[in-house]
Amino acid sequence: MKFVILTLFPDMIRQAAAHSVLGRAIEKGIISLEAVDIRDYAHNKHNTVDDYPFGGGAGMVMQAPPVFEAYQDVTSRLVSAQAPVIYMSPAGRPFSQSTAKEMAGYEELILLCGHYEGIDQRVLDEIVTDEISIGDYVLTGGELPALVVMDTVSRLVDGVLGNEASAQEESFSGIWLEYPQYPRPRVFHDQPVPEVLVSGHHARIEAWRLEKSMELTLERRAGLPFSPNTRPGQKKHH
Ligand code: SAM
Repeated sequence: MKFVILTLFPDMIRQAAAHSVLGRAIEKGIISLEAVDIRDYAHNKHNTVDDYPFGGGAGMVMQAPPVFEAYQDVTSRLVSAQAPVIYMSPAGRPFSQSTAKEMAGYEELILLCGHYEGIDQRVLDEIVTDEISIGDYVLTGGELPALVVMDTVSRLVDGVLGNEASAQEESFSGIWLEYPQYPRPRVFHDQPVPEVLVSGHHARIEAWRLEKSMELTLERRAGLPFSPNTRPGQKKHH
């Protein structure tokens, strides 16, 4: 899967994606990343890409021409003419695990990062197919949101996680939050690992984990989507 990120800060994207699971997936060629500098498409003496908004108001707004040219240039090099263009925006559709699953189905994804007070609405109207928000707060730019999206979606791409089961059993993949986990040492600060986990009894371990998942979900997130067709312990597939 290929991620193209249109941004004014490509190094921020490249550096953050160079580590850990994402870094390894890129190295192995399972996913690829092209961070495109929108400023390269500015055609004025000082390479400016922002201007005051008509009608006044605080702050600057990214101008349409460089964003459009960057978009045109990258799409001319993509395999799919229909790659979604997702604008990272506080006014967008809330990002969730199910949105990530949807996105993981695409071969190519273009993520557009705003900065300053945002981007000229006219170019958004022309090129954007979806707007995504990572939460009800305002960041300085779309770079961190784009990285959040890329990280979450990448984990769902075959081969990115070493152990495929880890993406299937975790929080938000079914209807329950994930149960607590305990690695070595067996006793930490006088607290032993729950006895059942060292019993070797798989059915009891499964039952214990389900019970803990249910307790945690009801305590913290009683409003998580619950389908009447999904029995406790059964995974909900989208
Ligand atoms: N003036 C805009 C508003 O009030 O909605 C906020 C602009 S914000 C300072 C600059 C850029 O950061 C946005 O264009 C968007 O790309 C990104 N951004 C900020 N908060 C975000 C969020 N919660 N989710 C996704 N992107 C966000």
